[in-house]
Amino acid sequence: MDLRAKLRHVMDFPKEGIDFIDITTVLQDAEAFKVCMDTFKEYAEQIGDFDIIVGSESRGFIFGAPLAYQMGKGFVPVRKRGKLPYKTIRVEYDLEYGKDVLEMHADAVKPGQKVLIVDDLLATGGTTEANIKLIEQLGGEVAGIIYFIELGFLEGRKKLEGYKVNSIVSF
Ligand code: AMP
Repeated sequence: MDLRAKLRHVMDFPKEGIDFIDITTVLQDAEAFKVCMDTFKEYAEQIGDFDIIVGSESRGFIFGAPLAYQMGKGFVPVRKRGKLPYKTIRVEYDLEYGKDVLEMHADAVKPGQKVLIVDDLLATGGTTEANIKLIEQLGGEVAGIIYFIELGFLEGRKKLEGYKVNSIVSF
């Protein structure tokens, strides 16, 4: 199945000049969503040994949590400022369209744990860089990173040198 063709492009959202890739057209199509999740699983198996999956708000949850379930692993949510109830660690990061803070529970990743990062899309790599900082601050080790979509022309991978990076479709 051509998952690329199932994605909807929305021009000038949320700002002029952005070609926003809308994943909801894949999510609402049971067959396409299954192919997508099965491919995530295949890539996760290629990463090898890992203990836990980290996904960030909010589209990282959509793929990260079901993948954790499929792989028999736990899931750790990374959230925007002020959403997590317990003690947190935080990092400020840049977006393709803005700036924000990401937080993780201070006891979510244990020292030495191998972590798989899952997200919907790699654009500039700023979000993933922030996720890596949070994980490594807690003594975790990033085993790999898997995206549904990669915007190759933004060269986000350059920020992620030295890490195992994979994506299902790229533009
Ligand atoms: P970045 O930190 O620049 O790699 O951007 C990461 C997050 O921003 C992704 O996980 C997406 O949720 C969102 N994002 C950035 N650019 C786009 C885009 N063109 N279409 C859809 N989502 C985007």
